[in-house]
Amino acid sequence: MTWRNWGRSQRATPTAVLAPADADEIAGIVRSAHERGERVKAVGAGHSFSAVAVAPGIQLDLASLTGLLAIDATTREATFAAGTPLHAVGDLLAPHGLALESMGDIDRQTIAGAVATGTHGTGLAFGSIGSTITAATLVTGTGDVLRVSATEHPDLLPAVRLGVGALGVLVDVTLRCAPAFTLHAVERVEPLDAVLDAWRERAGGADHVEWYWFHGTDAAITMTRTRGPADAPPIGPGRIRRLAERELLANGAWAALCGAASAVPALAPSIARAASTQFAGPEVRDRSDRVFVAPRRVRFREMEYGMPLDAVPSAFRAMRALVERRGWRITFPVEVRAVAADDALLSTAHGRETGYVAVHRYWREDPRAHFAEVERIMLDHDGRPHWGKLHTQTAADLEPRLPTLADFRAVRDRLDPDRTFDNPYLRRTIG
Ligand SMILES: Cc1cc2nc3c(=O)[nH]c(=O)nc-3n(C[C@H](O)[C@H](O)[C@H](O)COP(=O)(O)OP(=O)(O)OC[C@H]3O[C@@H](n4cnc5c(N)ncnc54)[C@H](O)[C@@H]3O)c2cc1C
Repeated sequence: MTWRNWGRSQRATPTAVLAPADADEIAGIVRSAHERGERVKAVGAGHSFSAVAVAPGIQLDLASLTGLLAIDATTREATFAAGTPLHAVGDLLAPHGLALESMGDIDRQTIAGAVATGTHGTGLAFGSIGSTITAATLVTGTGDVLRVSATEHPDLLPAVRLGVGALGVLVDVTLRCAPAFTLHAVERVEPLDAVLDAWRERAGGADHVEWYWFHGTDAAITMTRTRGPADAPPIGPGRIRRLAERELLANGAWAALCGAASAVPALAPSIARAASTQFAGPEVRDRSDRVFVAPRRVRFREMEYGMPLDAVPSAFRAMRALVERRGWRITFPVEVRAVAADDALLSTAHGRETGYVAVHRYWREDPRAHFAEVERIMLDHDGRPHWGKLHTQTAADLEPRLPTLADFRAVRDRLDPDRTFDNPYLRRTIG
């Protein structure tokens, strides 16, 4: 069987695909693979662009490990089975008056997969989903079941918060949640230079701020989301209508336009210009998980770098100048976000407030020349690559950028001494 990821940038032919139902079955599979010296790789929804989820040996499908396992209303902690898709989480938490603190652009990923690569949204007071982990159960590389929490091996939490699948198979994950809330979203088309000039004030000026830029334009599409009480009345078109409109504009029409531009690149600039005027959505207020995410059905490939927050305007301007110099014709926009510092050993946001710049290319286009030159600019701005997105960094490159990489390696030596969870991506990036 050939496995392919969502962005069609990776493929794998596992020796077997197994679907364990619980921790004991996972432990049995890992223990016997360890004895035989075979590799094991858990896979989530396959939404990583990088080769992080490629299984050279046994692939573990954890689709049957889903659901809410426990909830503590006092501490607002919720424990989920590791394979639970993010799109199920809102409905599972709502009856308990809780919600995820923050979410990224989509909700198709599994909790374990999102945690493993440092999946993040935007908002200077909020970190990645993994930064909210308070406990987890995992099966280590020798097939042992290990609990990590504030009272059990608490020293391992900063490693487990972003484990790149290298430390163990996550069985369940406990997340610190927020009281349920609504989000009020306002999207505007604004002058790009004004947005860049006031980047820090803007990033901290509302709960969740991000913006998109279409190549060849002078405008940024800014998205500002403000948190409000759970019972605040909804604003804007209903959810079904919103989804239908997004489906048509952001997915149906967009697919056709990107397909046309990949066949006739000369069309790309006018498509990007037209898209920049249509991209902003209506004002909306709704339950948080319904506003954070949107459907993304047009396949693309992505590279995203996190850098010190104040480096964003300079990095962005250098990237814009590069694309203009090269004359590249690109339909997909650039996305800019910001998050709080966190303590996960491998986090792009480890120890620093972080601004993210993400570049995308339609999946039928070859992004390599474009991404390679943008990557150099991101590195010049002290950038760290997103683990789930395309990049070319090696362990030697990453060492000076991520001072805690050595600490992560030490945890890996403890939990997976014989590299049962190894794959070529981990060999390249962790060593
Ligand atoms: C359209 C799209 C939008 C995206 N938007 C964002 C965004 O807004 N913000 C952001 O930060 N990222 C974003 N991403 C990236 C995505 O969130 C990450 O790549 C995420 O890891 C994908 O989760 P997954 O469930 O598909 O995991 P996979 O890609 O299948 O796996 C990722 C890693 O998780 C490991 N893993 C999976 N299950 C387990 C387990 N049970 N135990 C241990 N390890 C496990 C895998 O081995 C692998 O190392 C986006 C990706 C796409 C395609």
